[in-house]
Amino acid sequence: MILTKYGGVIRRYREFLPEIDDKHIVTLLEGNTPLIKSININKIINRDIEIYFKYEGLNPTGSFKDRGMTMAVSKAVSSGSKAVICASTGNTSASASAYAARAGIKSFVLIPEGKISSGKLSQALAHGATVMQIRGNFDDALVITREIAKDYEVTLVNSVNPYRLEGQKTASFEIIDELGAPPTHHILPVGNAGNITAYWEGYKEYFDAKKIDRLPKMLGFQAEGSAPIVLNHIVKEPHTVATAIRIGNPASWQKAVSARDESDGLIDSVSDEDILKAYSMLASMEGVFCEPASAITLAGLIKLNKRGFFKKGDVCVLTLTGHGLKDPGNAIKVSKEPVVVPCDKHSVLTVMGLA
Ligand SMILES: *Cc1c(COP(=O)(O)O)cnc(C)c1O
Repeated sequence: MILTKYGGVIRRYREFLPEIDDKHIVTLLEGNTPLIKSININKIINRDIEIYFKYEGLNPTGSFKDRGMTMAVSKAVSSGSKAVICASTGNTSASASAYAARAGIKSFVLIPEGKISSGKLSQALAHGATVMQIRGNFDDALVITREIAKDYEVTLVNSVNPYRLEGQKTASFEIIDELGAPPTHHILPVGNAGNITAYWEGYKEYFDAKKIDRLPKMLGFQAEGSAPIVLNHIVKEPHTVATAIRIGNPASWQKAVSARDESDGLIDSVSDEDILKAYSMLASMEGVFCEPASAITLAGLIKLNKRGFFKKGDVCVLTLTGHGLKDPGNAIKVSKEPVVVPCDKHSVLTVMGLA
């Protein structure tokens, strides 16, 4: 057996990525995440299709953002940058601050006040970022960071940084390398719309390289209270329990629309209630704990399946974008409360139904 050391997404997919010197690569060995086949949910939803979860919560900082951040921070370092800045609903700041720490450069993050989960905030703080909570939403924060990055020596690492999307497209390569073919449908949450854009690029590049001979349909989902692409207008005050996709004016709006149209796919919305139902199902029926924003993929699949959207033999891959531990408060809210019992064996056996 030949053992090759895993070196992160840049080293693995170098031929498809912007050039970078080995000495400038900043990696925490992101990527190479599991593609988990659904067993129990598949059975109750539709036995005629296959469902896989691309569990991006298992990246080093707990979300897919690391795939893009390794590329963006490596490029920043290679160009001599000493600091990065981003606006974030949480995960971008966690990832940017971790990769900046690894690179030995500074990180500045702007987050919407009070709207990011404590798990994500704790990451940025632990990694030594200068965290600024602004009195505004994500879209407001992005405007400010873009202006600062334009005029000062600090690299913007939001997904408007083209290297972010370059890194993120490696998830499509991994899926194809593992399945031996593209899925028929790929389902993603849509927030700032960078990831759906990146995945579509990845699929197209493997197609152009003749590694696959067809392309999947891209199916994106936004939360009902935060669905600018579905509504076809900016949402001034976006709201949803899925804070990672609480975005009213996506930066990659047009590119996401192109991915949808070129792939003959769709972008639709689902309610918070259905998002939370899917979130509970994933954790309690498959053992996969993801963020509410990630669970929108399953909620979307269920919605489409109900109207007979899928054909026998379809293969659906759902990207579960972030880890459930980022935001444990939501899980506690939607789950059964712990039972308080007196401290004796008989009481415990009673609760267990064994007394
Ligand atoms: C960033 C993020 C999204 C949204 O991705 P976009 O590229 O902004 O569309 C979805 N889920 C999680 C967990 C995220 O961190």
